[in-house]
Amino acid sequence: MKDLLLAIDIGGTQFRLALISDREMVARVRRATEREGGASWMIRQIIDEGRRLLTEASAPVKACGIGFGGPVDFHNQRIVRSHHVSGWEDVALPDVLREAFGIPCIVDNDANAAALGEFHYGAGQGATHMVYYTVSTGIGGGIVLDGRLYRGKRGRAGEVGHTPIFADSDVICSCGNKGCLEAYCSGLSIARRAREALKEANRLSAAENVTTARDVFSAAGSDPLMKRIVDDTAKYLGASIGGLHNLLDLDVVVIGGGVSQAGEWFIEAVERSARSFMLDPDEHGPQIVASSLGDDSVLWGAARLTQELRRE
Ligand SMILES: [Zn+2]
Repeated sequence: MKDLLLAIDIGGTQFRLALISDREMVARVRRATEREGGASWMIRQIIDEGRRLLTEASAPVKACGIGFGGPVDFHNQRIVRSHHVSGWEDVALPDVLREAFGIPCIVDNDANAAALGEFHYGAGQGATHMVYYTVSTGIGGGIVLDGRLYRGKRGRAGEVGHTPIFADSDVICSCGNKGCLEAYCSGLSIARRAREALKEANRLSAAENVTTARDVFSAAGSDPLMKRIVDDTAKYLGASIGGLHNLLDLDVVVIGGGVSQAGEWFIEAVERSARSFMLDPDEHGPQIVASSLGDDSVLWGAARLTQELRRE
């Protein structure tokens, strides 16, 4: 009987728990977030569901890893805040869950967890130096160098979405700065750029029908203006990836999040752009690939995170 790990993925709209054994997910639970309940409601639900999984587990559960959708003070093991749900400010979640579950717990932000998941179990397997991009509502990321997650001085490294791609831009990003990658290439930003382009072309009713990046990608096959928005998205993402490769000399770049599911043709367009910005593109790399774990990358990475407990 193999020991089990409890993995928890806490997002803005849902949270998920899973029991993971070696390379297998043996049980899982998914619940929608009730935002009005705030953090205290979520923590109660997580404890209830976690206890139920621990009781039903077929083998001892050794530790718990958590990927949290918001900034985390990794060194002090505290949630900084959530951008979606109130009450998460300065919460020592691993202490709370250790008390409730009786096992050691560890937390990192969900993009770092997803990077670890892809590196050890997904599209980054076999790499040594990897950067993970998650392109969905916003853009997050995680950096693995020499096989280890690079967290930086305060545990805040990996914010690939908040590197500027236009220094003289007037477009304000969710972080308050102007010209960030996220302000052009997140799902919300792709939809916004499409609406702006349609309005400029006097296609007002078409503009009203664009609410998500998915609308833009599905129209790109038949609408040259939407095709241009998608092409520009690939160009900007590629510029960011090419620049990061010049900085870090990577084996592989993994792209996750909803936008990565647009199709292989989109990943190929990002790759073409990235190579055009690289100082030394060659046939060996870096490979630019879509995430292979999808939504599960955070759970796998959260389980993997528990290995860092043993060094304490
Ligand atoms: Zn930003």
